[in-house]
Amino acid sequence: MKKTIKIPKKKFKIYNPKLKEECGVFGVSNNKDSAALTALGLHALQHRGQEGCGIVTFDGKKYYSEKRFGLVGDNFNKEKVLNSLPGDYAIGHNRYSTTGENTLRNIQPFFADTNAGGIGVAHNGNLTNSITLRNRLVQDGAIFHTTSDTETIVQLIAKSKRNKTIDKVIDAIFQIQGGYALVMLTQNTLIGVRDPHGIRPLVIGKIKDSYVFASETCALDIIGAKYIRDVENGEVVYIENNELKSIKPFPARKVRPCVFEYIYFARPDSLLNGKSAYEHRKQFGIELAKENKIKADIVVPVPDSGNAAALGFAQHLGINFELGLIRNHYVGRTFIEPSQKIRSLGVKLKLNANQSTIKDKIIILIDDSLVRGTTSHKIVKMLYDAGAKEVHVKIACPEIRFPDFYGVDTPTKKELLAANKTNDEICEYIGAKSLDFLSLEGVYRAMGFNKRDNNYPQLTDHYFTGEYPVKPIDELGDDKITQLSLLSTASNN
Ligand code: AMP
Repeated sequence: MKKTIKIPKKKFKIYNPKLKEECGVFGVSNNKDSAALTALGLHALQHRGQEGCGIVTFDGKKYYSEKRFGLVGDNFNKEKVLNSLPGDYAIGHNRYSTTGENTLRNIQPFFADTNAGGIGVAHNGNLTNSITLRNRLVQDGAIFHTTSDTETIVQLIAKSKRNKTIDKVIDAIFQIQGGYALVMLTQNTLIGVRDPHGIRPLVIGKIKDSYVFASETCALDIIGAKYIRDVENGEVVYIENNELKSIKPFPARKVRPCVFEYIYFARPDSLLNGKSAYEHRKQFGIELAKENKIKADIVVPVPDSGNAAALGFAQHLGINFELGLIRNHYVGRTFIEPSQKIRSLGVKLKLNANQSTIKDKIIILIDDSLVRGTTSHKIVKMLYDAGAKEVHVKIACPEIRFPDFYGVDTPTKKELLAANKTNDEICEYIGAKSLDFLSLEGVYRAMGFNKRDNNYPQLTDHYFTGEYPVKPIDELGDDKITQLSLLSTASNN
């Protein structure tokens, strides 16, 4: 009789191609303290990713690299580590990733040797055609070592037939699509690139004779660097012989930054379009208040994500702002936990009701966004358990109905509460007395934009509208990175 061999299903799990990364990037030129400045910059960008961090330096002869799991402050805090990264040029990366691919080989910056010399690459964002490109490269004989879409960029650069590295980079970015901010390091050249729509952010700063590239201005502030300007959408900037040079290889297009940087992602003190994220969020709160005039005893923010919007809301309606929830600062962001079970536990680990301020009160609870509803569901219950009389939830952005493919980890449509439930159903699920979202018009009004403007929409706002400025090609095809399924399973076992 023929024996059937049972293959344990788990071992052959196909690698999930929907790998998304948020991440923070940083780079500095011409500075003898380049590694230490990069560590500080990454520390300021820690909110963009906490899974792993890495720094690559160049000392005129050789490249050096350190990559670690965990936080920057826990890994790049010793002289010994920083001394192992000599050189006047450095780039760094903070990594955030989703399920399963928590391996050292996926931590950036990536490094490759090309026929024009070595290149280190740090990437924030998500390519929408990386699987398509990757399959083509593999068919062509390329060998991939990681499961990150960033390696596709490195392979494209290495494969380019152009002589100068900067031209190789341009060759590569003509092939990739999606949202990306790149900081790269070649022999004594620091390169920064922002995608043609400017979906992901990248700024330029200067400290003495050193240029700095960073995801956000808070990374300039920490090292005392002066903000010069944003890298423009579709712009390639590079520092050569200590001079800032710029190439715009793509046809001119209007910039459409990601609305979620304004709503949630950027640190409140970072500048976005000339104003701090904090000011923008306060204004979202004011617009939310204009749309929802309501009587209540207190306004309570979900800390820290709802703080600024709640302040704006409370100030506009003249209602007392109270810290009705206290946050434990020693727990990471709720989303960072890769499984739903741990994620919901995370909310409890992170927050506790401040009973004395909320007992018998009619409360307006404000958060910046509602994604899966995990946070609101737990917190509303927590407030009622602590004696709140009524809890009205107000969200300082519209209903998120569509997933993201450009580097912000908003999940599949199936998991997005507002994609599957009506407002009343969501309200019932989270157990609130009422629930309201800021309108999309409100978001634009808050930012001083107008729907009637010729260049509307000024933001990448597919989360609410389903209008994607870059087609998610990989999502539309059936391609899978099958050759990596075994590799990634093996390393995770
Ligand atoms: P949820 O609990 O699933 O409804 O998610 C909403 C909460 O997660 C809010 O408190 C947000 O501040 C936060 N949040 C929203 N989007 C993200 C994101 N892309 N990454 C991490 N946290 C997020």
